[in-house]
Amino acid sequence: MVKLQSGNELIFRVAIAVPVYRLFDYLPPEQVGLTPVKPGIRLEVPFGKTKKIAFLVECVPHSDIDIAKLKRVERILDEKPLLSKKDLALLHWAGRYYHHPLGEVFSAAFPVALRQGKSVVIQTEKRYALTASGRAIDSELLKRTPKQKSVLEKFQAHQNSLSEAELSAWNHNWRSSVKQLADRQLLQLAGSEVGTSSTPSVVEPIIRNTALHCNAPQQAAVTAVCDSLEQFGVFLLEGVTGSGKTEVYMQIIRAVLEQGRQVLVLLPEITLTPQLEERFRQRFTVSIAISHSKLTDRQRACAWLNMQRGECAILLGTRSALFTPLKNPGLIILDEEHDASFKQQEGFRFSARDVAVVRGKLLNIPVLLGSATPALETLHNVENGRYRLLHLPERAGNATAPILQLLDIRNKKMQEGLSEALIAEIRLTLAKNEQVLLFLNRRGFAPTLICHSCGWVARCRRCDANMVIHYDEGVLRCHHCGQEQRLIRQCPACTTGELTPLGLGTERVEKVLAELFANKTIVRLDRDSTQRKGALENYLQQINQGAVDIILGTQMLAKGHHFPNVTLVAILDVDSGLFSIDFHAPEKLAQMIVQVSGRAGRAEKPGRVIMQTRQPEHPLLTTLIRQGYNSFAKTALAERKEASLPPFSYQALLRAQAVDAQMPKLFLGEVAQLGQEFSKGHIDILGPVAAPMARRAGLYRYQLLFQSSRRPELHSLLDALMPLIEKLKLAKKVRWSLDVDPVDLY
Ligand code: ADP
Ligand code: ZN
Ligand code: ZN
Repeated sequence: MVKLQSGNELIFRVAIAVPVYRLFDYLPPEQVGLTPVKPGIRLEVPFGKTKKIAFLVECVPHSDIDIAKLKRVERILDEKPLLSKKDLALLHWAGRYYHHPLGEVFSAAFPVALRQGKSVVIQTEKRYALTASGRAIDSELLKRTPKQKSVLEKFQAHQNSLSEAELSAWNHNWRSSVKQLADRQLLQLAGSEVGTSSTPSVVEPIIRNTALHCNAPQQAAVTAVCDSLEQFGVFLLEGVTGSGKTEVYMQIIRAVLEQGRQVLVLLPEITLTPQLEERFRQRFTVSIAISHSKLTDRQRACAWLNMQRGECAILLGTRSALFTPLKNPGLIILDEEHDASFKQQEGFRFSARDVAVVRGKLLNIPVLLGSATPALETLHNVENGRYRLLHLPERAGNATAPILQLLDIRNKKMQEGLSEALIAEIRLTLAKNEQVLLFLNRRGFAPTLICHSCGWVARCRRCDANMVIHYDEGVLRCHHCGQEQRLIRQCPACTTGELTPLGLGTERVEKVLAELFANKTIVRLDRDSTQRKGALENYLQQINQGAVDIILGTQMLAKGHHFPNVTLVAILDVDSGLFSIDFHAPEKLAQMIVQVSGRAGRAEKPGRVIMQTRQPEHPLLTTLIRQGYNSFAKTALAERKEASLPPFSYQALLRAQAVDAQMPKLFLGEVAQLGQEFSKGHIDILGPVAAPMARRAGLYRYQLLFQSSRRPELHSLLDALMPLIEKLKLAKKVRWSLDVDPVDLY
């Protein structure tokens, strides 16, 4: 039970996860006990006809609302707040900076189970690991006990620990053998997955196997961060793929763990990088928590609570794990910091990278950003001295950098997007028993179905977009709203014309590859082919075992994977990225090219990258190839400066959509007018204009852009504007949202 701080503070002012800016006042609950209530605790309150979970913001003596009308808090859920004062301050900052309702910001910081007020019992899942003698023993010595032998071999093949769930998935009858192996001192209990406290013991070393011997740039990076573990600072670890960034992370993490502190590691997409988890488990003996969207609510709540209580030392997670409370925070790492997935694109639109930096500052700990292709904003922050650059210029070990080439396909004969020269290169590579990786960032068979006789095109009824052909499933599908229809054979307009597919998708390329390389194994990796649970893992395993000759895929391939036997990478259609109207597009294209290229020749064999283009003189491509990403970035930053675009100015985008075609425009028009009245110059208000995709899922979309060279002025305008916008009559007739520092203008 809890008690009020003093008799005067009668009113509980709370934040509730609803899309309005105001806070809500309640009377204290009937029964109040002895511990004083603190901001941040969760409460259950009556709200309309339902009950909701609320977060206490403050206790105040007065309410603007008649006390007689106030409802009472029903229940207090936490005796103590689950978030620290500093983390609460972070949420308040984020609410202000992103101009987002505080209740929704708070809600985002909690895992779903806790947001719903559920009580979560942390369940323990045991993990087992080999002992030193277990690692050393020859499994043949156990040949008279075949069950034990096979369990031992399973562990030896895995090199690290296995959880009960992993063992059960492998073989239902593992328990007795594991027990017998433990009796023989070949296995032991290890730290648990999302569970148990394995209190860091002084006797047990933190690392399991020995670290690699760092090369000089790696060592310099490790030293630089380790020398300032006691204070805030942002470091950019810029290193080409394969330069040993992960090794640098692990050596720094070790130093933090040795101080008894925790590490938060954020990745763009954790399901794509089980490799990292595996490497961490091989290196560290401490408990590691995992948090990403493929886990159950309970598992995520366990990971969150384990970090909050200090029972796990490392958290590996995606964007949403950013707010996880840390009992003894020591370091935040964001790997692939340039990745767009760090920006939340709906609801509470925050940049996990930018918020991580603010969090590091509040907690007074270092923040380490890693990338082969840093975001232009980040490079700009290095240039102006805010972030410190740590550079790994070369690939670690024996691997060499891949060679990038442009392949001019103007006037060349093409077979479904493959030029003859490229086909020849693929043949040569396969003949050497090496793997080929083909990149095409468009799934489906073809992006357009067109009538050869009248020109009719299959359009989505609800979007300004063409329907994409999916031959395998026999459907036309809209990639923007998911609308589907059967694949038609006859033109609905002229009824006689022949319908032909126009353009290329991965499905189409897969078909031609299957014809051209009939005796080779081809794997297609895109969102369609990997929908089934475990499908991606399965394909990756096949690829790594060398059972695959040609890998074809979308951007899924650009991230984090290590394909040691790939020596040829081809980007089939680099031109499609060159003509976007969004000023972020060149940056994204350059990053994509470099990231995909990074999949080539990661091990001993050197790699080559071929880009098919009809724009062989395009400055973006030539700069990237002749001078590398950094020169590209310098040029791109100079262009942004010239045009006063971010990071040389600051933007906020107000989007509105509605079934009615006029409402969004009218609404934004009123906002623009209000904006003009309140703005004291220095702020450009551009629009309203139709969104680049003017209609989507049946809704008409408009946008209004605020831009200023002075961040504080932009924000004070938004401060003044948001409460007024909320009160506009039209605000109830449209769906609207504000995006501060938008990363794409769609
Ligand atoms: P990145 O994270 O930058 O892509 P990794 O840390 O995964 O790079 O390293 C790429 C490969 O190089 C890995 O196989 C890793 O074991 C190896 N490696 C890293 N550092 C060293 C080193 N100092 N000496 C030898 N090999 C290294
Ligand atoms: Zn027709
Ligand atoms: Zn659609």
